[in-house]
Amino acid sequence: FESKRMRSHASLYVPTLEAARKQQLSLLSDLQEAVAQNQLRQFLQPKVSALDGSLRGVEALVRWQHPVRGWLPPNEFVPFAEHTGRIRQITQWMLERAVRTLSTWHAQGLQLSLAVNVSTLDLQDPGLVGRVASLLKEAELPAHLLHLELTESGLMAAGPEPIQVMHSLHELGVKLSIDDFGTGQSSLAYLQMLPVHELKIDRSFVDGVNFDARRQELLGSIVKLGHSLRLTVTAEGVETEAEMAILRNAGCDLVQGYLVAKPMDTPAFEQWREQYRPAASG
Ligand code: C2E
Ligand code: MG
Ligand code: MG
Ligand code: MG
Repeated sequence: FESKRMRSHASLYVPTLEAARKQQLSLLSDLQEAVAQNQLRQFLQPKVSALDGSLRGVEALVRWQHPVRGWLPPNEFVPFAEHTGRIRQITQWMLERAVRTLSTWHAQGLQLSLAVNVSTLDLQDPGLVGRVASLLKEAELPAHLLHLELTESGLMAAGPEPIQVMHSLHELGVKLSIDDFGTGQSSLAYLQMLPVHELKIDRSFVDGVNFDARRQELLGSIVKLGHSLRLTVTAEGVETEAEMAILRNAGCDLVQGYLVAKPMDTPAFEQWREQYRPAASG
């Protein structure tokens, strides 16, 4: 009985695996075209002051407008792009796009920063620093307007090599942030030597924090930790006024989340920005 059941399972699963493999292969060749055919898009999400709601910066998030599969979120292709080495082209596209947006803002007299998410694989790319430098130079942009976000877990997995690249970027004047903080098990000793200016608390610490006193204390401790390292502390994924109030009381500097705005395509963001009036805080 057992072997029959297993066989029937096998005959059910083999075509599924085959189909999955085919889909991955086609995604790989599609990914090669995504950049060439200009199918990537820059979405923008604001970061605002927890205290008064004023706009303090913006994060760029990649989207792929796939010709057949429609809009794809980064989770559906960024990990894959990292495995296959395609991530560098995506990063380069996002950096060029970000610098173009920053140039527009700069020309309008707006001192608004824009953060690009980079993979730790990018930090192993010896050409990255030079390309960032030349993009900024060509655009005649102050380097401090460009921010790069690196996930804590990626940094921990990468070992010590990326730190040198981070120092080079820091020397250029580019600002660095630790993304998804709290999920990557970094040590205080490690954190202390990173040339970063911002710590972004992962949204898992924020979600529903108002329902749990212990989690509220934990969140407060993370904010204090960030401040003792002299970092700007930003909370991700703020969805409710109750979460916002707790973050404000904890002394969190900046917040991001659906409560303020979802990520939007660039024209929609510009509209949002022109209409945005911070709500007076309590
Ligand atoms: P992340 O950098 O931590 O970005 C925050 C993610 O949370 C975004 O998802 C954003 O849309 C989502 N988010 C923002 N506010 C809220 C909220 O209030 N509630 C909820 N539930 N979600 C919220 P997204 O755009 O799907 O990106 C997922 C991850 O993919 C990013 O996490 C980042 O690690 C990665 N990523 C995005 N763009 C790029 C890129 O250009 N390059 C690389 N290497 N990674 C990217
Ligand atoms: Mg990010
Ligand atoms: Mg994050
Ligand atoms: Mg929630």
